[in-house]
Amino acid sequence: MEKINFKKKYGQNFLSDTNLLKAIVSDSLITPEDEVLEIGAGVGALTYELAKNCKKLISFEIDKSLENILKEKLKEFNNVNLIFSDILKIKTQEIDSFFEKKYKIVANLPYYITSPIIFKFLEESKKVDSLTIMVQKEVGEKMLAIPKSQNYGVLSVMVNHYANVKITRIVKRHMFTPPPKVDSCIVKLDIKHVPFDKGFKNFVQTAFSMRRKTLLNNLSKLYKKEQIEKVLQSFNINLNVRAEELLLEDFEKLYITFRQN
Ligand code: SAM
Repeated sequence: MEKINFKKKYGQNFLSDTNLLKAIVSDSLITPEDEVLEIGAGVGALTYELAKNCKKLISFEIDKSLENILKEKLKEFNNVNLIFSDILKIKTQEIDSFFEKKYKIVANLPYYITSPIIFKFLEESKKVDSLTIMVQKEVGEKMLAIPKSQNYGVLSVMVNHYANVKITRIVKRHMFTPPPKVDSCIVKLDIKHVPFDKGFKNFVQTAFSMRRKTLLNNLSKLYKKEQIEKVLQSFNINLNVRAEELLLEDFEKLYITFRQN
């Protein structure tokens, strides 16, 4: 790898193994007709593999000092547009407008902003079709956690509300330069196109706000106790239930019922 000052503050852990890069592209199921957004081009290893396999690629990179390396690496392509900017500062609507049709996100994400990036697109984009992203293994496990398990929480419920989720592969820390402290995984989120509802997110966050407390107790920040009891009883749900025992479908149907009452 070229001589680079890796910037920890930007989550710069780069990939170089061609087999792994090709596998990530293969997991994303992109075709030569697809338009793709990459978040965090780095020195362009994944960018290069994506550019070879899609129609149009827009790649964001916050670190302007990587511009020369990236331009050199990608000089053979005319389907790549590099944008040197903080992706979180660009309105999602504007990013959507760069694409002619539905697009796919493929990225080795900077870990310090994994959640804000995921929710930016799950909640706000009208055009994203799927996200194939490298996240910390623990984050992937949280996304796929089942009720009553330690990892089950707001992230598990909300991500599955918006998308069908699967882990396509585990990536060991030594595959990165420099290696991070933990292993990673590739998750694929296939968007269900559920409209964003701020109320639902608030409902789920409130339900999990004090993990040891009952759902009834936590939700009493939002609704009257008698109303909560009535709704839980109408679904034959025990009044002592905790949020961590409920399935996504339970949250969805409870929320709709509270909204109607
Ligand atoms: N894609 C490269 C690879 O796979 O080797 C680099 C991945 S590295 C984990 C994440 C990249 O995201 C870094 O190059 C970092 O500078 C960039 N980055 C960090 N924060 C960003 C942001 N807010 N907007 C755009 N890029 C960002």
